[in-house]
Amino acid sequence: MSATQRRRRTAVGLPRPTRDAGRRVTELGHDRPEMARERARTERRDLDKERGEPLAGARGGKRRLKRMGRPLDAWSTRPRILVTNDDGIESHGIVALKRALDPIGEVVVVAPESNQSAVGHQKTLSRPLRVRERTLPDGSVGYSVDGSPTDAVSLGLLGFFEEPFDLVASGINYGANLGDDLTYSGTVSAAMEAVINSTPAFAISQEYSERVDFTLAGIAAARVARNILEHGLRRGELVNVNVPAVSPDECGGIEVTRLGKRVYQDQLIGRVDPRGLPYYWIGGPPPSGIGLPGTDFHAIVNRRISVTPVHLDLTGRRLLRELPGWDWALDTAAVSEEDAAVARPPATEQERFAEESQLERR
Ligand SMILES: [Mg+2]
Repeated sequence: MSATQRRRRTAVGLPRPTRDAGRRVTELGHDRPEMARERARTERRDLDKERGEPLAGARGGKRRLKRMGRPLDAWSTRPRILVTNDDGIESHGIVALKRALDPIGEVVVVAPESNQSAVGHQKTLSRPLRVRERTLPDGSVGYSVDGSPTDAVSLGLLGFFEEPFDLVASGINYGANLGDDLTYSGTVSAAMEAVINSTPAFAISQEYSERVDFTLAGIAAARVARNILEHGLRRGELVNVNVPAVSPDECGGIEVTRLGKRVYQDQLIGRVDPRGLPYYWIGGPPPSGIGLPGTDFHAIVNRRISVTPVHLDLTGRRLLRELPGWDWALDTAAVSEEDAAVARPPATEQERFAEESQLERR
């Protein structure tokens, strides 16, 4: 068995996660105002508790929390770091990130075999994944997968390698991921997948420029990695880093920011192909952003590295309080026989659903 084979194993026999784990069912209804207020307060406290934050309305100061991080010299072994990206295994950014993190820990590279930018949190469930061993430009070994950045992280964290990872680093993406970009970004989604799998993670992206140089981004990545390993992240948290396209001498340092507002200028371009068939391309001018102080956009415009804390809890807090006051009565009488017939798939499809349902329960 080669050294490479010893380092990995198949996922056969690994425990399967339970899909319903942690699912909560909330019954909606109409309360008296004081009951609604009390329930809103309780829900806010429950959410804060889940997120590991100081409890809303709690007295007695901040809640003391368990942290996973510890000083690097207190680690008994070198931290294991999984490096991935969405620009593909052949991108320069991933090699720059690997080399920046090599002094900190044992780095393993797993990335999509082709550019997967803007695929978001796509996960491949309908076909097998093929993994290839690759030689990176610095001579080290990496792995490519014919899937998405999320697939790459899943491989790494679900058993392709024998040992677990202490940190996932995604990048260095060529092009910033600011504000609303996070909803499209394969780079950030890879970090999100790590967090879902209980592994601390950060994403790092660099602003577009004609002459690409990842030197500053590499320095920033090393600083962020050290901080996460030493301080730890809480459940659901990740860090999104954006680096301006300047040299280390021109950079104004690191700023902790909040997400800003991206302004897209997408246009649907319709053309006709050589065979006379119409096709459509989503294009248009590059997006801009609103540079309010304190945001990631403002930091980048002012040549500072933006470090934004992100949480996977996307709950809309205002709506959480407001929605119970809406009318939730189900109008079952409005369903016609024709609608009901259309809503029920034919018998052949029902059999397929039944099979899938049974597979899901196993
Ligand atoms: Mg990309």
